[in-house]
Amino acid sequence: MTKMNLLMVGAGLSGAVIGRMMAEEGHSVTIVDARDHIAGNCHTERDAETGVMVHVYGPHIFHTDDAEVWEYVNRYETFLPYKNRVKTTSQGRVFSLPINLHTINQYYEKTMRPDEARAFIEEIADKSIEDPQTFEEQALRFVGPDLYEAFFKGYTIKQWGCSPTELPASILKRLPVRFNYDDNYFFHKFQGMPENGYTQMVERILDHPGITVHLNTRFTREQAAEYDHVFYSGPLDGYFDYELGRLGYRTLDFEKFTDTGDYQGCAVMNYGDVEVPYTRITEHKHFSPWEEHEGTVCYREFSRACGPDDIPYYPIRLMEEKAMLGTYVEKANAETGVTFVGRLGTYRYLDMDVTIREALDTGRAFLQHAASGTQM
Ligand code: FAD
Ligand code: UDP
Repeated sequence: MTKMNLLMVGAGLSGAVIGRMMAEEGHSVTIVDARDHIAGNCHTERDAETGVMVHVYGPHIFHTDDAEVWEYVNRYETFLPYKNRVKTTSQGRVFSLPINLHTINQYYEKTMRPDEARAFIEEIADKSIEDPQTFEEQALRFVGPDLYEAFFKGYTIKQWGCSPTELPASILKRLPVRFNYDDNYFFHKFQGMPENGYTQMVERILDHPGITVHLNTRFTREQAAEYDHVFYSGPLDGYFDYELGRLGYRTLDFEKFTDTGDYQGCAVMNYGDVEVPYTRITEHKHFSPWEEHEGTVCYREFSRACGPDDIPYYPIRLMEEKAMLGTYVEKANAETGVTFVGRLGTYRYLDMDVTIREALDTGRAFLQHAASGTQM
């Protein structure tokens, strides 16, 4: 195969994984990123004051059922066992999440066994809702009004800036309800935390003689002509200079504070009451429980509408976004010499494992096309 000059826009997981695959096939890979660091939103760095490993763009927990992806990340970094056990403060009390038998018994001050709790929740759930479409309908159908009000309504209004009646049921479907005492937030077979952070892992993925990384470098479309192909993991609407308008995102503000000892006793404490302005507090040393630090670093997390100069975090995907997205996707498909990848390039909420899976699949498909002489 002839050697190609390839450009990756973005040094996050998408750009790094595809870039590595291309470099291993002998192609020349240039990676540009507008930020002053690699690893995109997974970026981790040690806090200078306390030495705590901080998840700079919010907490990232690796969880997957995909054995190949798990093997891939373990090739570049040691993953240590980590279970995400989230708590929530609501109505003046602390509860266990995701909703499990402990949460239900605690909330209703009962001592129910699994079958009793299941029957109890079925009794209070709104069975008139047969096919839940909205977030609120999904919640009312599956946990009833009390638990919905306590744990989901206020949090969701803060997180998404709109009523749960305007949001799709799919957002809540990500969370399980368990009738046992399993409080592991995720149910995936493989779960863990990189021993030295995600940035070290990405650094090792990028450590190949065929890869050159340029930080503080923003991509412009004119640059594309210099390359045989571009893999673009920046915002889809940004690529087209927002000519159809901006796709809606939520951004996050993190209010950092430090303390000594243990501030809250867990990594993630959600706040269910709408009166508390932040959605959650994350205490980063608990993400590396094998390390010991005297100091502690916490982030209060606030969610708001994303302005033109803010970092886009969560795609909103309401009805108006869907129509605009459809047109942008058509334009992206018509573009030759560019493949749109990753959470921003495809305007989807993607977990890290799905991002890596898609990057591996996209890279392989590209190489196959190239080998057969067809353009992607
Ligand atoms: P990104 O990481 O966003 O990388 C894109 C890169 O492109 C960025 O570095 C950006 O600077 C660069 N870029 C953009 N435009 C340009 C341009 N024009 N020129 C040059 N560079 C550009 N996943 C999990 O599996 N577990 C979790 O617990 C988890 N928690 C999360 C928490 C939050 C708050 C968020 C927002 C996401 C979370 N995720 C989690 C998802 C995870 O962050 C993504 O799966 C992953 O970051 C996607 O990688 P990416 O390379 O597609 O995008
Ligand atoms: N959610 C909630 N209360 C909580 C946690 C989550 O209402 O204590 C809702 C909220 O709308 C959130 C969705 O459930 O966007 C999915 O939760 P998840 O923890 O997966 O959120 P993410 O990882 O996207 O921040």
